[in-house]
Amino acid sequence: MTSIVLFGPPGAGKGTQATRITQSTGLPQVSTGDMLRAAVKHGTTTGIAAKEFMDAGKLVPDSIIIDLIRDRVKQPDAVNGLMFDGFPRTIPQAEALSQITDVSHVIAIEVPDSKIVERICGRYSCSVCGAVFHDKFNPTTSQGICNECGSSELKRRADDNEATVTQRLDAYHQQTSPLAEWYDGQGIFHRIDGDREIDEITKDILLALQ
Ligand code: ADP
Ligand code: ADP
Ligand code: ZN
Repeated sequence: MTSIVLFGPPGAGKGTQATRITQSTGLPQVSTGDMLRAAVKHGTTTGIAAKEFMDAGKLVPDSIIIDLIRDRVKQPDAVNGLMFDGFPRTIPQAEALSQITDVSHVIAIEVPDSKIVERICGRYSCSVCGAVFHDKFNPTTSQGICNECGSSELKRRADDNEATVTQRLDAYHQQTSPLAEWYDGQGIFHRIDGDREIDEITKDILLALQ
């Protein structure tokens, strides 16, 4: 089992790029953020424990995240590896991952903090297929209708507001960005300029994965 990690601050474009490259890599996309939001929606024990951290823009404790991933890798589609989006976010999470799967590439999507608030506050997504859009940078072609599946159920995340974003960026700088050095030392870390057109970024990621 050999996996790929998409790494970067909130709003860097990890989810957007993951959806575009999953066909080329053949690896299923695993977003811990999406898994946690599903758990909150269904009122599971994990969801109840995670909600207060997510609402405050803080990282959910490592033990909860690592349990989620241990369960996910047991599923049959994980046999050749997974493409992680938003995981790992701390060194203990990365250490746990290294016990579970080899990691061939860590793709770091770099976007300056000054661009992050606008990216996150303009984000919306399709409740049916998960496609991600942006009011200004990547709007749906017809207003209120998902480009991918035609649904009119478009929604915004509760934590995509300016106050929470500031907290999420702090968590990124304090707890997540030290992972860059940790992975760089292993020779699998690829930096990609994420402050460009979505298509250009996709091309560079696919090149880095060759
Ligand atoms: P992440 O998964 O890293 O939090 P998303 O993929 O959800 O990020 O992207 C955050 C927001 O920024 C979304 O509204 C998305 O449409 C938009 N976005 C993604 N990539 C770009 C880009 N290269 N330029 C401008 N906006 C982008
Ligand atoms: P973003 O668009 O900010 O990258 P995600 O959807 O990945 O957001 O995560 C949303 C929230 O879920 C985070 O602010 C955090 O509370 C929690 N979360 C997601 N993944 C992790 C993780 N690997 N470790 C700890 N908390 C996480
Ligand atoms: Zn859709």
